Amino acid sequence: MGKKKSSSAFTYDIYCGQCQTVRFRYAKGSSGGLLRCFIGNITVAPDLELWRTYKSKADFPNLNCSKCGHLMAVPMVYKDGRLAFRMLNGGFGRKKVKG
Ligand SMILES: [Zn+2]
Repeated sequence: MGKKKSSSAFTYDIYCGQCQTVRFRYAKGSSGGLLRCFIGNITVAPDLELWRTYKSKADFPNLNCSKCGHLMAVPMVYKDGRLAFRMLNGGFGRKKVKG
């Protein structure tokens, strides 16, 4: 019906900008820059089930690396009401995942 299939999404591993430990996997709709990661588009994370129970930005802690504690992102609410992590410059890196 003209809607983009999810298979066309770009999938990235988002890792710590300091120690390169992968923090979560993200399905992105386009190949452009990564300013924010919507919680609903995160596909793999150790704490994903917990995040999905959160109802507001106030519930979210900052996103720190699970290994070295480096600050990677802060919670935000996008203009359409979706919860997201605002990714910090230098806080993270990303690597495209095949398939
Ligand atoms: Zn780290």
